[in-house]
Formats: sequence, structure tokens, C-alpha cells
Amino acid sequence: MPSGGDPDLRVATASAAEPDTQGTRGDGALAVDRLLPWFAEHGRDLPWRDPDAGPWAVLVSEIMLQQTPVVRVLPVYRAWLQRWPRPADLAADAPGDAIRAWDRLGYPRRALRLHACATAITVDHGGVVPDDVPTLLTLPGIGEYTARAVAAFAFRQRVPVVDTNVRRVLTRAVRGRDEPREPATTRDRAELETLLPPDPEQSARYSAALMELGALICTARSPDCDRCPVQDRCVWHRGGRVAGVARRAVQTWHGTDRQIRGRMMAVLRAAEHPVATTDLLAVADDTDQARRCLDGLLADGLATAAAPDPATGAETMTLPR
Ligand code: SF4
Repeated sequence: MPSGGDPDLRVATASAAEPDTQGTRGDGALAVDRLLPWFAEHGRDLPWRDPDAGPWAVLVSEIMLQQTPVVRVLPVYRAWLQRWPRPADLAADAPGDAIRAWDRLGYPRRALRLHACATAITVDHGGVVPDDVPTLLTLPGIGEYTARAVAAFAFRQRVPVVDTNVRRVLTRAVRGRDEPREPATTRDRAELETLLPPDPEQSARYSAALMELGALICTARSPDCDRCPVQDRCVWHRGGRVAGVARRAVQTWHGTDRQIRGRMMAVLRAAEHPVATTDLLAVADDTDQARRCLDGLLADGLATAAAPDPATGAETMTLPR
């Protein structure tokens, strides 16, 4: 690469060659001796971090947490594992039961994917969550992030796990920028691999600590550098915290298709019997939007046509059975 190439790659290359300066030891910005003590003192006591939680619980938590804050996930996660403590328990129930239990976590296709994943684990793996990334990746609904998170957090393997929080901390503390230029997961993973401590157990804790730092301190909108354990080494902080240009605008929710789909799902979850299609369409003022949203739910497998109402002959819908 020419010397004037991408600074991200230069940092990554330097990190690989000089792990003691950019890496986890010595005076590296994200050194183990800074992150692990901070995590031990300030990390949240979350049920999926319990050493006895087990791989299925970790897998469930990772899928729930992908788009939803911890505080909203906790009650649903607890109820879910109480009802379905093993993949086979979930696989034995209908997909619609999973959607109902998903409640209002949002993006309910995740419930369907989790059900499909539980079924595959039960049928193809004897009910045991696989412990290696390639096999985890063969499961429905399990992508690179989730496979690596399960390998690291459930099976305590030395596997780089990059989510948006980790990417943000790496970008600021090591690369000295407020925000990544573009998602570059492969490169982020390669860079993180150079930072991970060699010991697998310590590596798993280090990954959790990095995520926690991004979730609690180095947040996207208001990083609390004064409480950060790596403030004196953070390249972005030392450079004067020049704000990036792309601080993400708050997504509007009111009136969106997501809101209308959410309303329809709430009606379906609450109903003990099939719901008249006209009742579902009535949740939006815009009939074209309502039709589009209902068609989307049908296409996604989140709703399914049921027998017509025996009294009125009206078309009805239900959760998948
Ligand atoms: S010093 Fe500030 S910007 Fe740097 S890692 Fe800590 S919280 Fe993030």
C-alpha cells in the first residue's frame, strides 16, 4: 500500500506489528489493564453474563439485543427462558407463540428466526447449541455477529466480536475519529483480533468490556470522557474531540410503516381468535399504507390468512401456527 493510503489500514497494520503500543498491553489505548478492572467494577450485572446462563440463553439474548435496549429486553428475556429453557422447548411450540412472547421488542421477524434456529438446533444438532463459528453460521437467522458473540460469550473463545459499540470505541480511541467512515466489519475484526489478550477467557471478558464501554460511556451522542478509563490514551480525546459530520438524525417513528406494522402485530398478539382483516386495516388512516403493511406482514410470515369468520364470512388473519 502507498504510504499515503487509508489511515485506518495504517493503524491496523501498525497494530498487528506492534501489539504492545496499539494493543492490549503496555500503553495501548485499549489496554487490558485499563478495561478489565473498569469492567469488573462498572459492568452491569446482566443475566446472560451469568457464568451459568448457558449457550441457549446467550444466543437468545444476542438476538433480542440486536435492535432493542437492555432495559426493554430484560423482562421478555426472562419470561422467554422460563417458558423455553431449551431450544427443543421453543421448537415444540408454534411460531405464532414465539411472536406473541416477543411482545413489543420490535422487529418481530427476529422471533420467527429464533424459532427457526431452535428448530434447526433441535433437529440437526441434538438440541445442543453448536460451539464453533462455522457451524453456528449454518443456523437460520445467525449471522457473523451473533455466531461470534455466542462463541465468545457462551463458549469463552478468543473470537473478535464487533458491534456498533465496539466499532465506535475502536474508531475513537485507536483511530482518533468520531465515527467510522463506513462499516468495515472484516477490517474491524482484524484490528480487534490484534487487541484481544491471548488467554481465551480473558479475551471473552475483554470483548464484553469493550462493548460495555461503548454502551455506557463512549456513547454515540454524548461520550462521557471524564468517566472513561482510557481517557488519557484515547486518540480522539487527545486530539480535541473533533465531532464527525454524520451524527445520525433521530429516526422518525410516527406515521411510518414500522409503526403501522407494530399496531397490526399488537392486535394479532392480543387476539385469542383470528382477527377480521378489516380490523387490521383500520389501524391506519391511509388505506394504501395499511394494505401495504398488511401485505408485508403476510410476506414476512408474521401473519397468515385464517378461515373466514363463520358468522359474517369476513376474511380473517392470525399469527402463524
Ligand atoms: S475518552 Fe471519550 S471518546 Fe475516548 S474512548 Fe473514552 S469515552 Fe470514548
